[in-house]
Amino acid sequence: MLTYNFSNARGIFFPAGLPPDGTCFYATEACLKYCCIYKKTLSHKIIIGYEKKKKALDYFITQPVRVIVNKLRQEYNNKILYWFASGDCPLGYEKKIAQIIRHLSPETPQNGFTRNKKLYNFLTNEKNVRLMLTIEKPSFEDFINTDRLAVPNYKTGLVDIYIKQKLVAKCSSESCGEFEDNCTACYQSGRGCFYGMFKNGLSY
Ligand code: SF4
Repeated sequence: MLTYNFSNARGIFFPAGLPPDGTCFYATEACLKYCCIYKKTLSHKIIIGYEKKKKALDYFITQPVRVIVNKLRQEYNNKILYWFASGDCPLGYEKKIAQIIRHLSPETPQNGFTRNKKLYNFLTNEKNVRLMLTIEKPSFEDFINTDRLAVPNYKTGLVDIYIKQKLVAKCSSESCGEFEDNCTACYQSGRGCFYGMFKNGLSY
């Protein structure tokens, strides 16, 4: 299994934390400390053990793009695909993951969060894809140069979502098991990560 239910979408879970055990190469001190993945109280529905995450990661690393795409097609079942419900894009696999996302973009909306700028940059103009770049304490340049920016607030557990420099949402998804927003609701009403995006493919 490569995906699991998450925020009314199908989430891709890779091992969290720093390499070599985790995939979060760009993790910061704060995110390692507060990441909801480590919370013992994490929603019962979305606790995915390390073994399953590692198995999914190994599959992505060892299998060719078309095999992974077909497997994801069998699994997402008309839902949104959410990238990195835990972990991140492993270093050196940005191109491969971007290819997978591109293959699937005509048939399913995709969203999620990454700290991997290279992956983010591969997908800035992909229709139907709303991958956010997570940056803590973004500089003025970060704001100006990043169309889809996510700024986590570890105190509130919310994530500020900026689309084209406009604060469009404070994400309160069930991702940490405490809130009720979900990605399908956002997609259907064109808010959150999907702000301004409609099903006919129009963006912004
Ligand atoms: S803002 Fe909406 S679409 Fe984005 S992660 Fe949060 S719940 Fe999902």
